[in-house]
Amino acid sequence: MPLKPDLPLPEAESRRIGFAIVGIGKLSAEELIPAARTSEHAAITALVTDDEEKGRAFARAFDLTDADVYTYDRFEELGAREDVDAVYIVLPNSLHREFTERAARMGKHVLCEKPLSVNAAEAQAMVDACQAANVLLMTAYRCQYTPHHWAARGAVQGGKIGPVKLLDSIHAQAEDDPEAWRMKLDLAGGGPLPDVGIYSLNTVRFVLGTEPEWVFATLHQPKDDPLFREVEESVSFMLGFPDGVVANCLTSYGAHKTTTLRVLGEEGAVLMDPAFTYQGLKVTITDQGGEFQPKLPNPDQFGAEFDHFALCIRGGKLPWTPGEEGVQDHRIMDAIYESARTGQVVRLQPVPGRDAFRGEKPEVQGQEG
Ligand code: NAD
Repeated sequence: MPLKPDLPLPEAESRRIGFAIVGIGKLSAEELIPAARTSEHAAITALVTDDEEKGRAFARAFDLTDADVYTYDRFEELGAREDVDAVYIVLPNSLHREFTERAARMGKHVLCEKPLSVNAAEAQAMVDACQAANVLLMTAYRCQYTPHHWAARGAVQGGKIGPVKLLDSIHAQAEDDPEAWRMKLDLAGGGPLPDVGIYSLNTVRFVLGTEPEWVFATLHQPKDDPLFREVEESVSFMLGFPDGVVANCLTSYGAHKTTTLRVLGEEGAVLMDPAFTYQGLKVTITDQGGEFQPKLPNPDQFGAEFDHFALCIRGGKLPWTPGEEGVQDHRIMDAIYESARTGQVVRLQPVPGRDAFRGEKPEVQGQEG
């Protein structure tokens, strides 16, 4: 992978890489801030929030001080903080670009939640801004850092199930608040597709290592339901990969919480159920020797992400899921919406090779090489 030896690196190799968390919503509060404690190479050194009171309460609980809490309008003051190497953007999707560009201008690396943005053009602008500022951009695709997803990919790519023919994946959940930002098109960029359907899309691409050549999709949006006035309720999308491999995916904001992935080869299958939860992932491999569930460790998914990005910053390496990986999912999601709108198959730019948009392989517990 391309080294970037001229990146601004932290002085002391032994110092943990410092992150400012931008946005203290549900994910930051319940997962990311606690997860940083499990990280070997990263530490949270500042918090950025629209609610200073909440910021101070979190600061006290996590060994920071009031001086480590910033409001959005004081974001640029982080530029002077030597112990802030990177920002982790955990805001509604349409705000990701603005905060990425502001961070890049300060020379800070950026870890950004999925989806990277609201469409491919916006996401590409984020990649360009980080490249111009010579800072790293990583898309926070936590599933690509779990032993379970690597075991599934290993079984598929290692030939255990024979040549792959078909895949299917569901990521659905029931939403009930019409006022939530997820239900506002300008903040979310779409409904369940960019929020949870993206897991099916991203994981199918990760497990195969190749890129789809076409998409075909339909969606359902009952606009008379206050929940779905602006965004779709559900999407069904089909992805066509090289050699006739086809993936069928379903996503919804109106159905029982379900996360699955299934890969069918000529001689076996891989099933993940649940496939995308924070804990309790399960992978079952069926090959000619029978059915088995590999015993795998369960490291914190967000801690693993923090560590990978911290090591990339320290070593000047492109992360395994860089901004480009997030842009590619947006290109495909843009095509999915186009297909649903036109009723036509949409052809995608052919992408030769494997793992075309990925960087340095992560160290994943329980996996070799
Ligand atoms: P949330 O609603 O719980 O938190 C969003 C934060 O943004 C809050 O602190 C809120 O105050 C702030 N905010 C700033 N401007 C806002 C505005 N105009 N409208 C609404 N909120 C505003 O959201 P969340 O669930 O923490 O999601 C944040 C990001 O994290 C999203 O990009 C989402 O896709 C992503 N996410 C990722 C995962 C994962 O597993 N990787 C899980 C959940 C969310």
